[in-house]
Amino acid sequence: MPKPFSCPQCGGHDYVVVLTGCKVTGATLEEAYTWDGINEEYVSSGSVVVDSDTFDSQGAQAVCSNCETDVTDAVSAYETTVAGEQADAAQA
Ligand SMILES: [Zn+2]
Repeated sequence: MPKPFSCPQCGGHDYVVVLTGCKVTGATLEEAYTWDGINEEYVSSGSVVVDSDTFDSQGAQAVCSNCETDVTDAVSAYETTVAGEQADAAQA
């Protein structure tokens, strides 16, 4: 069974990855608008790429959704572990 990523700081499993310097082609973007009744205006989530033909980025930073710690190194270590397990499973 695959194990989720765990934040070294708080143990949370959810994280956000921010990609910078992206070159994207054939992309589908999504932007969510939430009504803020206090300020009486719509708040946008910003554009989110939900699908694309190709996706190249110059840099990526991962941040824990729970405690906002920079978990870039921990996520890349996790992804390396998961990729290794999938390769082992494919060979079995
Ligand atoms: Zn955390």
